[in-house]
Amino acid sequence: MAKIHELSDVLADQIAAGEVVERPASVVKELVENAIDAHSTQIDILVEQAGLKSIEIVDNGDGIENEDVAMAFQRHATSKITTREDLFKVRSLGFRGEALPSIASVADVILQTSTGQQTGTQIHIKGGVQLEQLPAALRKGTDISVKDLFYNTPARLKYMKSPQTELANITDIVNRLALSYPNIAFTLSHDGRELLRTSGRGSLQQVIAGIYGVQNARKMVSFHGADVDFEISGYTSLPEFTRASRQYISVLLNGRYVKNFQITKAIIEGYGSKLMVGRYPVAVVNVKMDPLLVDVNVHPAKQEVRISQESQLQKLITTTIFKVLSKENLIPSAVKN
Ligand code: ADP
Ligand code: MG
Repeated sequence: MAKIHELSDVLADQIAAGEVVERPASVVKELVENAIDAHSTQIDILVEQAGLKSIEIVDNGDGIENEDVAMAFQRHATSKITTREDLFKVRSLGFRGEALPSIASVADVILQTSTGQQTGTQIHIKGGVQLEQLPAALRKGTDISVKDLFYNTPARLKYMKSPQTELANITDIVNRLALSYPNIAFTLSHDGRELLRTSGRGSLQQVIAGIYGVQNARKMVSFHGADVDFEISGYTSLPEFTRASRQYISVLLNGRYVKNFQITKAIIEGYGSKLMVGRYPVAVVNVKMDPLLVDVNVHPAKQEVRISQESQLQKLITTTIFKVLSKENLIPSAVKN
């Protein structure tokens, strides 16, 4: 008798979910990225019990057509890329078509959506099984609610850190998304308490002030640099405003928050000997480049990327930061602010 058989879709989704949704913060990241890809200008994130009880994301974006709603929860179903060529020039944050089916396989999900042109749709999926699909309100946009995350994967649930740590991870990812998109008005609330609100008026400096405080934002300077392949811009802190970890350096590559050790190192090197041992700057670095020069398809969570000509980019960053800090040094601190 044959021993090899295909896994059921539900089981396959749950296995894939292990990579895409590691913890509540990954759910928040994937869902907010979907809202951004849908051209939302307002995104509200409501979290209960560090995301394990409930995560709700409300956006005013494009919405999903009625006929597409069930398809959006199929594995590898996406509206964002079609051909092999598209994969090499991804401009959207998503493209793998894995987030919704993964999340719905390990939680109780209700999604309401409308394009604003037709009556909307509500779909309810729990543990990968569709329970119902009904007509819903017309309001343009999408409202997705994810309850009881990991209720059917006890091993994953056990691996969760303390609520404080899980919430800190959520806050961290929302902060970075807000820093990446000053044109989008974000709110984040936890158990009814508001943790972040950005205006969406497009000023990165204002978002920085909202996250790090107005006083600290004054201790950051803007920079801009370019060469033939890369354009970089953002804010970086004066040597007097530092933190004990590198995690306050946010690198945004074509609008995508990425973890890249080399770029982070390039920023720190721009400070030369101005930093004390064990201290790191606070920085937001936007890198614009041809999508062809970056491979985002390295890991399911899409935070790791491969950049060609990385050393050229490193050099541009180090010299740009070095220059702007040297200029600042010439201004006596009494006249600053
Ligand atoms: P991906 O983002 O990689 O395409 P997802 O599983 O995250 O895959 O989403 C599947 C599809 O559902 C998306 O391609 C998009 O068409 C649609 N979608 C998901 N969330 C939203 C949203 N908030 N607004 C509009 N469309 C959405
Ligand atoms: Mg997505």
